[in-house]
Amino acid sequence: MNWISNYVRPKINSLFSRREVPENLWTKCPECGTMLFHRELAENLNVCTHCDHHMAITPRARFSAMFDGGIFVEVKVPEPVADPLHFRDQKKYPERMKAAQKATGEKDAMLVAEGEMLRTPVVAVAQDFSFMGGSMGMYVGNAIVAAAERAVALKRPLILFSAAGGARMQEGILSLMQMPRSTVAVQMLKEAGLPYIVVLTHPTTGGVTASYAMLGDVQIAEPNALICFAGPRVIEQTIREKLPEGFQRAEYLLDHGMLDRVTHRKKLREELVTILRMLTGQTPAVHGDLPPAQPVEQPAPAQG
Ligand SMILES: [Zn+2]
Repeated sequence: MNWISNYVRPKINSLFSRREVPENLWTKCPECGTMLFHRELAENLNVCTHCDHHMAITPRARFSAMFDGGIFVEVKVPEPVADPLHFRDQKKYPERMKAAQKATGEKDAMLVAEGEMLRTPVVAVAQDFSFMGGSMGMYVGNAIVAAAERAVALKRPLILFSAAGGARMQEGILSLMQMPRSTVAVQMLKEAGLPYIVVLTHPTTGGVTASYAMLGDVQIAEPNALICFAGPRVIEQTIREKLPEGFQRAEYLLDHGMLDRVTHRKKLREELVTILRMLTGQTPAVHGDLPPAQPVEQPAPAQG
């Protein structure tokens, strides 16, 4: 014991601990365990720079990377009735909602936007797994309906990015009703002759895979995404058999005819544009440079 350890060291420590260090400077890759610098990871679209593992990405970050110049306009989603069943488990549903809204800065688990991708006008809708597991409640249903209506009004294709643990149990039957409701919304696009492309991201499960996430004209998935109705653990416990390697993962589903493509996140933008332009009879994408989209009659911008 001397004055260095009793006095000087605590003083030095307190000086350093006072300095503000952002908590999430590093992210550990859940696949390979590499510590990744958050800025580098964000620049790589949340794909591990070491093993190519595709981590979750928020709808807002995805749209910023996807739309030309990071510019997009949010499409307003009608607010549903809050807590219609007065649901309570360990916590009240409104409390869970408030916590998720605070953590994510979003209203609910879906974001709708319009903008241009490589000068190709589209409407896009993306599900947010970080918001209560991307669970499908009334808001998500409203978002899909709003996105489809907007796409029809603007005569634009719709791209949907799915990520969900399934239905939102706190909304009970009202959440399950979003399955037929979103199916009808997708049908609106088909009747208008507009392409509907689904990009399945990790994980897309439950009622979402039993409705809008499986109705795309082209079904694309990100590498190694888990896509299923009931998860592998549930199936394994039920049939008491070991499941094959890679079961219900994107590559396995592609091999078995459930998907059209498995595409790396960094190549997704160009591939989506190529597919959309081919489906709408426009010049397909050429690396880097693209002619502007053929003019379509533009109705008035969205209300609100
Ligand atoms: Zn990794």
